[in-house]
Amino acid sequence: MIKKAIPIPKQSVEERIHNFYEVALGYSEDQAVMEASRCLQCPNPFCVGGCPVEIDIPTFIQDIKERKFDEAIMKIKEKNSLPAIAGRVCPQEEQCQKMCVMGKAGDPITIGRLERFVADYEHQRGVKAPQKSRPTGKRVVVVGSGPAGLTAAAELAKFGHEVTIFEALHTTGGVLMYGIPEFRLPKRIVQSEVDYIKKLGVTINTDSLIGKLYTLDELFGHGFDAIFIGSGAGLPRFLRIHGENLCGIYSANEFLIRVNLMKAYRFPEYDTPIWVGKKVAVIGGGNVAMDSARCALRLGAEEVWIIYRRSRQEAPARQEELENAEEEGIKFKFLTNPLKFLSDQYSWVRGMECISMQLGEPDESGRRRPIPIEGSEFIIDVDTVIVAIGQTPNPMIPRTTKGLQTTKWGGIIVEEETGKTSIEGVYAGGDIVSGAATVISAMGAGKKAAKAIHEYLSNNKAEMK
Ligand SMILES: Cc1cc2nc3c(=O)[nH]c(=O)nc-3n(C[C@H](O)[C@H](O)[C@H](O)COP(=O)(O)OP(=O)(O)OC[C@H]3O[C@@H](n4cnc5c(N)ncnc54)[C@H](O)[C@@H]3O)c2cc1C
Repeated sequence: MIKKAIPIPKQSVEERIHNFYEVALGYSEDQAVMEASRCLQCPNPFCVGGCPVEIDIPTFIQDIKERKFDEAIMKIKEKNSLPAIAGRVCPQEEQCQKMCVMGKAGDPITIGRLERFVADYEHQRGVKAPQKSRPTGKRVVVVGSGPAGLTAAAELAKFGHEVTIFEALHTTGGVLMYGIPEFRLPKRIVQSEVDYIKKLGVTINTDSLIGKLYTLDELFGHGFDAIFIGSGAGLPRFLRIHGENLCGIYSANEFLIRVNLMKAYRFPEYDTPIWVGKKVAVIGGGNVAMDSARCALRLGAEEVWIIYRRSRQEAPARQEELENAEEEGIKFKFLTNPLKFLSDQYSWVRGMECISMQLGEPDESGRRRPIPIEGSEFIIDVDTVIVAIGQTPNPMIPRTTKGLQTTKWGGIIVEEETGKTSIEGVYAGGDIVSGAATVISAMGAGKKAAKAIHEYLSNNKAEMK
C-alpha cells in the first residue's frame, strides 16, 4: 500500500510570483492512474458521504485506475456539472478526503486532483453534449450565474425544462469569474463549463439585474413557472474603524473584481487601472484574503502581510492556499487586529494601529473568540490595505420582492431540504441563503432546489398560481 499521495506538479515559486498562470499544473495520465491505484475501494465508502453532491467517488476512481477516463468523467457528471471547477477549488480536505480511510494511516486519496484530471482530459478532447429529457413546456428563471445558479440551471435543463439565466454582470460565472484569480482557476475553464451548460439549451442573459430590470412578479407575469434565486453574497463587509475611507484602502471585492473580472493584471492591454504600493496589508484569514494577498504580490508589492485576529489554526482559508501563500513569501501576523488607519497629509493610508489578541472560549462560530490584550498596541507601516473580512447578500431582490422572508443579515430563508422560500414557486440557494460559504455547498443547494422545482412543476402546482 502506497501511503503517500502523488504530489501535484506546480509552477516554481520564483516563476509564479511574476505571473497569473495557474499554479497547480495537474496530474499526467500516469500520475492519475498511480494515485487512483492507492484507493482501497471500500465497500462502505465514507468519501461519498463527505461530498455535498454525492458523487460516486469509488467508481470514478476505479475507472481512472483502469484508464477508462471517458467513463470516469461521465460518472462524475451524473452528479456534478462543474467538475473542472470543483476539482480545483473545493475544500476536499474538509469534505470527501477528510472521510477517506487511507487518511488514517497516510495521505487520503487526492480525490479533487483526480476529479480535475478527468475533467481536464475531457476539456482537451471536447466536451460532449449531455442527454436531456423530453421538453416539459415549463419555463424556469435562474437569477445569478454563480455555481448555485449554473448547477440549478443544468439540472433543470436535464429534466427538460426551458431555463433562462439572468446575470447582473457582463460575464457568467459569479465569484468563479470575478473573485477567484486566474492562477487558481483559469477563466477558460469556467467559460468552458458554462459552454457545457449552454449546450443543454440554457439561455443566458448577462447585464440583467433582477429587481431593476424585472421584479420576480413581473417574471411570473412573463409566463415563467418557477424561479431559482442564486444571487450570492457580493456585498463587502467593512471594519468600521477610523480612517477606513483613506486612499489606498480597498475592499477585497473591488480589488479582486478589478484584477480578475476587469483584467487589471493585463494593463494596458485591458483598460483597468489598479494601484498597489510597496507594503500591503490584507485583513482577514479566508480564501478571499489569500487571493488578495497573492494578487498584490504578483502586481509588484515588495512586502505583503496577512493580518488575522485569530491563529493559523482558526483561519478559514483552505490549507493548500495558506501553504501556497507562505511558499510565495506572504508574511502572516496572526492574533492581530487593526484599530485605526493612519493618514499622510494627502489622505493616503501610511500606517495601521493594531492590537495583539489572545484566544478565549469558543464563540457561536465554534472558533475560539479573539480577545484584545490591553496595552499591546503597535503600528505597522503600510501604503495599501485590502479589507477581506467577509461578504453579505446583495439586498436588491429581497428589497424588491414583497413577502420574501429574510434573516436579520439579509439572507433568504428557505426550507432546508428543498430551497423553497416563503413565496410559492420561488426557490433559493447558495451564498444568498447560507452567507459566504463554498462553491460545492452552492452547487449542492442548486441541485437540491432544481429537484424540488422539478417536483413542483411536475405536480402541476405551477398552473394553479
Ligand atoms: C475571492 C474568493 C475566493 C473564494 N475561494 C473559494 C475556494 O477556494 N473554494 C470554495 O469552495 N469557495 C471559495 N469561495 C466562495 C465561493 O466562491 C462562493 O461560496 C460561491 O461562489 C457562491 O456561489 P453562488 O452561486 O451562491 O454565488 P456567486 O458565485 O456570488 O454568484 C452570484 C451571481 O449572481 C449575480 N447576481 C447578484 N444579484 C443579482 C441580481 N439581482 N440579478 C441578476 N444577477 C445577480 C452576481 O453578479 C453573481 O454573478 C471564494 C469566494 C471569493 C469571493
